[in-house]
Amino acid sequence: MRKGFSTAAATLCLCLLLLLLSPASFAEFPAPQETVLETLPDFSGLDGSSAFVRYGEPDALGRCTAAVAVLGPELRQGEERADIANFRPTGLHNAAYSFVRDRWVYNRCHLIGRQLGGADEMNNLFTGTHALNHALMLPRENEIAAYIRKTGRHVFYRATPLYERDNLLCSAVLLEAQSVEDRGRGLQFCVLLPNSEPGVAIDYASGYTTRADDWESGGTSAGERAYIVNTRTGKFHLPDCTDAKSISKRNRKERRGCRGELIAEGFTPCGKCRP
Ligand SMILES: [Zn+2]
Repeated sequence: MRKGFSTAAATLCLCLLLLLLSPASFAEFPAPQETVLETLPDFSGLDGSSAFVRYGEPDALGRCTAAVAVLGPELRQGEERADIANFRPTGLHNAAYSFVRDRWVYNRCHLIGRQLGGADEMNNLFTGTHALNHALMLPRENEIAAYIRKTGRHVFYRATPLYERDNLLCSAVLLEAQSVEDRGRGLQFCVLLPNSEPGVAIDYASGYTTRADDWESGGTSAGERAYIVNTRTGKFHLPDCTDAKSISKRNRKERRGCRGELIAEGFTPCGKCRP
């Protein structure tokens, strides 16, 4: 009996020890938060009498634009899941981190979630972080799905990716929703969801990422990648950096390597693209 107890206690201690020693603690970084906006969603001019989903055309840079819908019980999620792995929404330079759940920092996110009747098609997909997709968008989608299931009614919905300047990765997603038949009494929100991942520094211009603490400490990055080196100034850039594009041919050198390697060789990271 006593032996049995001690075995159990030893197992428990071992588990706790392993937990403490585990390098990837998910609770290490606080999750990003949604911002609830004071403004009410504006769906004036939209006919809410029957369900539909409308996707915006990509903009001049090929970026996914807003999708708008009247969601309802008659919209069914497609039976077949399309193979979206081949879709390349802008800014999708994926990288794996031990502390991100499922490892990969980016998901191909649906503007209109599949459970709400959104399709697996290019105009409905953008590059979003794992945290944005799972911790922020999913709870709001679940809230809408639950309302529709419970009432059998409709919901105006709009999802808008917000880009700064020519950035290929959106900084945030604006989600607006309003129940149709009861004019927002049953469900209404207007929220801003940041496209960020705890512990990861993101270059929104290109979508390249690095570990946030690596950026601060000047250590090695998550992996090897392409950089542009200015041999005159000793600075190195991400390939998409506007400063990298203006380097003269004579001083410009393409390099593959780890961030730490370049720093060890005496190069300094550009303050603009933060490679
Ligand atoms: Zn740069």
